[in-house]
Amino acid sequence: VIVGGGIAGLLTARYIENNEVTVLESLPRIGYRKHCAGIISVSTCRLLNADDFADEWYDRAEIVTPLGVVDIRCRKPFAVHIDRCAHENAVAAELEDRGHRIVLRANVMNIEKRNQLYEIVALTKSGVKKFVAEKLVLAEGFSRRLSERMGLQCVRKTLVGAQLLVELNARLREGFMKILFDENTVENGFLWHASLSGGRKAMIGIVGEPPIRKPMEMLVRISKRVFGLDVSKIVDFWGGHVFAGYPIVAIRRNVAAVGDCVAMVKSLSGGGLYGISRAAPALARILERGAEVKSMKMLHDLFKRLRNQYLMAMALHGIFKRVPRSSARPRFEITLDYLDYDNHIEVLYTVMKTIGSERMRIRWSAEVSLGED
Ligand SMILES: Cc1cc2nc3c(=O)[nH]c(=O)nc-3n(C[C@H](O)[C@H](O)[C@H](O)COP(=O)(O)OP(=O)(O)OC[C@H]3O[C@@H](n4cnc5c(N)ncnc54)[C@H](O)[C@@H]3O)c2cc1C
Repeated sequence: VIVGGGIAGLLTARYIENNEVTVLESLPRIGYRKHCAGIISVSTCRLLNADDFADEWYDRAEIVTPLGVVDIRCRKPFAVHIDRCAHENAVAAELEDRGHRIVLRANVMNIEKRNQLYEIVALTKSGVKKFVAEKLVLAEGFSRRLSERMGLQCVRKTLVGAQLLVELNARLREGFMKILFDENTVENGFLWHASLSGGRKAMIGIVGEPPIRKPMEMLVRISKRVFGLDVSKIVDFWGGHVFAGYPIVAIRRNVAAVGDCVAMVKSLSGGGLYGISRAAPALARILERGAEVKSMKMLHDLFKRLRNQYLMAMALHGIFKRVPRSSARPRFEITLDYLDYDNHIEVLYTVMKTIGSERMRIRWSAEVSLGED
């Protein structure tokens, strides 16, 4: 049984080969709650088998920090935007085609272990139902109620995120994203915007410590004042909880946890699909075949990377808080053949390696204004 029909639960079910799977989801539909921006690396997109749901490819990123601006041009796309809800629905349809069961409006209230089996009590539309399972996957997202109870542990810090989808009068460069770290506007988070529909639309987002007051009004203001976008129409607005952290224990014999509930996230951005797309196949294999070395090592390495990213994110925010606000800062213009969008430490390392080489131009600029005044 898998508790939670978000991407973490669905993807783990996709990798279960020799067992019957029942996914219990409390919401009335798969892909019902839109919360994610849907920007992922090209390699994560491949692992999710989501190429058909990609509608914008990013090859240029401008990262603005109080220490300097890094303008990265990549010779091939490093990230894509996907339609997350359509992708979740496609994975769900594939599971049902393979004979797995998805039970909607099934809110799991309690789980007990009896004689090596898990008894799962869910509130469904036809009343309280009991499911019995040999193996259990907890993919409950925001909630940690059940995974904590089953002894699965993580370090997790809760942030909030929101984004606005807009149409533009003046087109943005296709495949462009800008990320702005400014602790005065948003603590421990960032502001961003990215082109969509070939630059005719844009998403403008914020991630940071709660509470973010009036996020929609704030994003409208930011799109104009901070990013200088010429917005003609607001198309959509959505958001949810974003996490920083890393898993500590994600599997114990016949029970595993995957996704946001055990903080399988890239802490600098809150992106969860990188960790989920790597952990889901490994967890599924371990549950089916036992603790095989390759999968255990894969998980161990992944969690170590996520932990290092968490420590780096905390350190960077600490530094950004201490740097005095100034409009004059160096601008590093870099051309790369390849950018590892999932590994932020690797990105930092790549940028540092190009210093002094002909692939980097350094200029002093006073043109960017940091955040809202
Ligand atoms: C504003 C925002 C922007 C984001 N942008 C990106 C991005 O650009 N790229 C990226 O990689 N990630 C992004 N993320 C993060 C990404 O969306 C999450 O990491 C990912 O969706 C987590 O998937 P999940 O399946 O673990 O959790 P969820 O998607 O939250 O799914 C959990 C599911 O479990 C169900 N559930 C919970 N408890 C129970 C229960 N007791 N019984 C039955 N069902 C239950 C819930 O109803 C839910 O459907 C973003 C998140 C937010 C909020």
